[in-house]
Amino acid sequence: MLSFCVAGRYIPPHLRNKDASKNGECDASGWNTAKDAYTSFGNNRGKSAFFNDRGNANRGRFEHGGFGNGGGGGNSRWVEESRDDGDWSKPTPRNERLEHELFSGSNTGINFEKYDDIPVEATGQNCPQHIESFQDVDMGEIIMGNIALSRYTRPTPVQKYAIPIIKSKRDLMACAQTGSGKTAAFLLPVLSQIYTDGPGEALNAAKENGKYGRRKQYPISLVLAPTRELALQIYDEARKFSYRSRVRPCVVYGGADIGQQIRDLERGCHLLVATPGRLVDMMERGKIGLDYCNYLVLDEADRMLDMGFEPQIRRIVEQDTMPPKGIRQTMMFSATFPKEIQILARDFLEDYIFLAVGRVGSTSENITQKVVWVEESDKRSFLLDLLSATGKDSLTLVFVETKKGADALEDFLYREGYACTSIHGDRSQRDREEALNQFRSGKCPILVATAVAARGLDISNVKHVINFDLPSDIEEYVHRIGRTGRVGNLGLATSFFNDKNGNITKDLLDILVEAKQDVPSWLESLAYEHQHKSSNRGRSKRFSGGFGARDYRQTAAGGNAGGFGGRGGGRNQAGHGGNRGFGGGEDLIFGYK
Ligand code: AMP
Repeated sequence: MLSFCVAGRYIPPHLRNKDASKNGECDASGWNTAKDAYTSFGNNRGKSAFFNDRGNANRGRFEHGGFGNGGGGGNSRWVEESRDDGDWSKPTPRNERLEHELFSGSNTGINFEKYDDIPVEATGQNCPQHIESFQDVDMGEIIMGNIALSRYTRPTPVQKYAIPIIKSKRDLMACAQTGSGKTAAFLLPVLSQIYTDGPGEALNAAKENGKYGRRKQYPISLVLAPTRELALQIYDEARKFSYRSRVRPCVVYGGADIGQQIRDLERGCHLLVATPGRLVDMMERGKIGLDYCNYLVLDEADRMLDMGFEPQIRRIVEQDTMPPKGIRQTMMFSATFPKEIQILARDFLEDYIFLAVGRVGSTSENITQKVVWVEESDKRSFLLDLLSATGKDSLTLVFVETKKGADALEDFLYREGYACTSIHGDRSQRDREEALNQFRSGKCPILVATAVAARGLDISNVKHVINFDLPSDIEEYVHRIGRTGRVGNLGLATSFFNDKNGNITKDLLDILVEAKQDVPSWLESLAYEHQHKSSNRGRSKRFSGGFGARDYRQTAAGGNAGGFGGRGGGRNQAGHGGNRGFGGGEDLIFGYK
């Protein structure tokens, strides 16, 4: 039965839709593809223009569950090799159970008006025009259908710029944070391109390999992320946007059973989300080949370098079989753009567009920031007061400095009768996932976390972030409060401040002023004193205008620095609030600082 289906392998674009009725014969899956006009899930918006399955060639069967996030199971899988065959640009049949699982999360309370104010600047030569709506760019039936299912009504600022840039096959360096919608900003155009182009040689390579009993996989796209939590979040988004496609996303990360991950990979892997250490391990075991990896994404690149992953990243990108820059397309996302990241950008990117996306939250004023003076000894009772004033259903994230502190505080709150849980580096992967699930579901609406454990987490409806212990670094503060007020939602961030937090005073004051928040007078006086004490300490690390960084190629010194190709093209499309002025504070490469 397979024989006539195998003949229909990958259909190049110019031959598509030629023989729809014959393709239809292949459907032995039990889905009535011809009549499968898609209806929006949930708040049933009626028939969508997308996901019209005419002429779809599907056979085999769906296999549910399997490896995946916290017991949620992986995507339902095509288990026959025929999954890869056929026209990749056409949607596979609908699967209501999976649709429900992937898209039932709510997206309510989005304050897009606020969100739209976030400024974006794109620099670099011949920067493609930004879009205003998802319809402005052709991403194909599958992607448009999944955008509708995700109930994304319009692109976020980073998406407006990144999507057309990536669609135009340009490399991209984007300074944007988690919470800005950056995951979809790269997943949508990359997946759309994979659907259009089909698997190409990666498919044949995997099949050839399979003949000799080896099960090496050749992903077409690789996303590197610093932590398992972030990797899982990206994977979850990838599952959404690969729904009803032939692309099978996988995720691998350290601290979890490698055998299970290998078995999952062996079932097919077209888009791989990975933490660097675990990926190197998989490559060395011969489970992953990057020979046909046409799309490389480095997410939270600054965090990966902070965590010491540079050798592994270079091993993956430069010292193996991945196509070189210029051949593959490379996208880097980073909240900041320090020297080390600039060097990585120079080594990995070709003629790239630089995107500076304004800070989410702190500049868009959708987070109310309160700083209160609380002595160490009073912190616990102050916290109880705050919690008792918080609605029962609201999610509250409490940051502490140490793992021990997290355990102790969780214990304390538990004894006080609060349903709470905690995540920190000493907790096992299983415990962390369990804690996150309990928090997200509202079973334990209070989560005590250390900064590292909470890095990059997309917990979308946190109402209140409490800095029980303030960090010493303002970037970290911005990251933390960014856990609330996500994607335009309104949020509250309360920070306990005392004598121990002197080093963050000035930067904290700047942030509060920039975000038009109430500034306690004692903080102003302290900042004044502090500045005078340390007036020779150099510039603040903050960038003005609410951006995390700027394109060093825009500066006179940076234009040709160190043989970067001196592209310093004109500034392009100052949008969403316009050019707010970057001012000083940029890190320049190669001794210009
Ligand atoms: P990220 O910055 O990628 O972590 O995204 C933060 C959250 O925003 C995720 O929960 C996304 O599902 C959501 N999101 C991304 N893009 C959009 C959009 N265009 N409309 C509504 N929500 C979005």
